[in-house]
Amino acid sequence: MKKITVIGSGTMGNGIAHTFAQHGFEVALVDVNPDTLAKAVQTIAGNLERQVKKGIIDDQQKTNTLKHITTFTDLKTAVVDADLVIEAATENRDIKLNLFKQLSDYCKDGTILASNTSSISITQIAAVTKNPGNVIGMHFMNPVPVMKLVEVIRGYATTDAVTQTIMDLSRQLDKDPVEVNDYPGFVANRILMPMINEAIYTLYEGVAGVEEIDTVMKLGMAHPMGPLQLADFIGLDVCLAILNVLYNGFGNPKYAPCPLLVNMVAAGHKGAKSGSGFYKYTAGSKDLVVAYKFKQK
Ligand code: NAD
Repeated sequence: MKKITVIGSGTMGNGIAHTFAQHGFEVALVDVNPDTLAKAVQTIAGNLERQVKKGIIDDQQKTNTLKHITTFTDLKTAVVDADLVIEAATENRDIKLNLFKQLSDYCKDGTILASNTSSISITQIAAVTKNPGNVIGMHFMNPVPVMKLVEVIRGYATTDAVTQTIMDLSRQLDKDPVEVNDYPGFVANRILMPMINEAIYTLYEGVAGVEEIDTVMKLGMAHPMGPLQLADFIGLDVCLAILNVLYNGFGNPKYAPCPLLVNMVAAGHKGAKSGSGFYKYTAGSKDLVVAYKFKQK
């Protein structure tokens, strides 16, 4: 396992590329959007600099890590010689199925095809490829260079050998992998997203404000971050997409996304990455300023 291709250079893709490159792998980072790719390389450089300042890595490691990353906008060129492809594109079923169909044609035999999806069925993704046994979920957490967990999701057809390879590879990245089965939301988001959705309902119904809700959960439950700030950090569009997968997958109204979340995403307030969600985000400022006021229901 030497050459890794990461598809999608957004929040997760740049973190996954950073982590593999830091551990000596050759990384091809591909995105349909050249601006996002350029921004991803800047983000990785900035995050490496932070690691240098904290004494986690030295300057030489920072330089080497950046040298290990090459960017592409053409999928075929980026994946032809990959040993492992990790798809971290937008959380949309059609986009992922289309990508995996192409990967099945472009990749060499034996390439493991992994998805970083938060909730979409690995079994359905695998079913559009020629070799479903080689398809697996490799669900990293945000921020990838920091968070220890990798949720490794076995699709219906995923082989034991592929699962073992991905478990071992995760440990090589200094992560702690946990193997789970392929049902909507897997484990992490099946538990996390209903909590975030309930926090948004609590706000929507006017029970309390943004800061009050987050403070209750931080101080009362010892969560490092409140659920509304976490939702902003994950991306409100990503949260909405995951809730829809849970809702449709289980057919249970308890997973129905809160109308306020639906509205905020429709209005383009997608959280930290768009500059505004429950809080406002200004480049260079770490202050938490509430963006959502009780102006509407
Ligand atoms: P994002 O919106 O930040 O980035 C997605 C990127 O994919 C964009 O840059 C977009 O241009 C690119 N893209 C879309 N279609 C593409 C294609 N056909 N080929 C190449 N690139 C394409 O999203 P994100 O938050 O990084 O999420 C990516 C994946 O990771 C999703 O499946 C999401 O569910 C999952 N995930 C997200 C988080 C999180 O905290 N945000 C955590 C774990 C897993």
